[in-house]
Amino acid sequence: MAVLEIRDLFVTVETDEGTIPILNGVNLTVASGETHAIMGPNGSGKSTLAATIAGHPKYEVASGTITLDGEDVLEMGVDERARAGLFLAMQYPVEIPGVSVTNFLRTAKTAIDGEAPAIRTWAKDVREGMQNLRMDEKFAQRNVNEGFSGGEKKRHEILQLELLKPKLAILDETDSGLDVDALKVVSEGVNRAKDTTDLGVLLITHYTRILRYIKPDFVHVMVEGKIVEEGGPELAERLEESGYEGYLPEDAPLQ
Ligand code: ADP
Ligand code: MG
Ligand code: MG
Repeated sequence: MAVLEIRDLFVTVETDEGTIPILNGVNLTVASGETHAIMGPNGSGKSTLAATIAGHPKYEVASGTITLDGEDVLEMGVDERARAGLFLAMQYPVEIPGVSVTNFLRTAKTAIDGEAPAIRTWAKDVREGMQNLRMDEKFAQRNVNEGFSGGEKKRHEILQLELLKPKLAILDETDSGLDVDALKVVSEGVNRAKDTTDLGVLLITHYTRILRYIKPDFVHVMVEGKIVEEGGPELAERLEESGYEGYLPEDAPLQ
């Protein structure tokens, strides 16, 4: 049982125009076995929250805390966070020239477990994982994300999720740019991880579409760096109808 707790989190980023606030007091708790969806309009700070949890150096925590089972995540380096069981599937996965998918996965698994995986079972696990995600075998020899289509990048993120077996996964717009078939395959992968490892999921999305396949227990709406509303799956259904109208300041009724 793992619990990720975010308390009164304020995050800024350094730009040419100075320091700008992006997250303005986020509170969120995600436990093993729970699926939380964070929804919100573009630019509301969803990816910033994901990057801050993962330890992206660009984002400065001005105040607030992030803990995993009581341990201070903000004191941990990026690799320590991964070893502690945190996993981030990025909105825009980066290319790693010269590193094949096979080598990347094996290196990551070794770093996280503290020892190399057993050769025979590992090869089988990778093969099965790729088959489950309908990935071509040739994929394993390609360089990470180099020339991958949008769908291939997202499948590769979920392959990592299934093989690295984190405690808590943050999936940042894993649904964006996927056609319905790819969305189903990717969602099945997430659901397998939920079923087999009691994974806690923080699912960041702009659209309700993926929530038909990955059922959230809780839905949080983020606007301008704050969670402005929380509820169950019915909140996502309401957003499907009404969008984010009414949440944005320009939509606020005149006093
Ligand atoms: P979302 O994922 O909800 O679309 P983001 O977290 O990507 O939102 O961005 C939130 C706001 O912070 C946006 O206005 C964005 O332009 C700004 N922002 C995020 N990262 C940076 C950065 N590295 N430099 C400057 N501005 C940034
Ligand atoms: Mg965005
Ligand atoms: Mg984003």
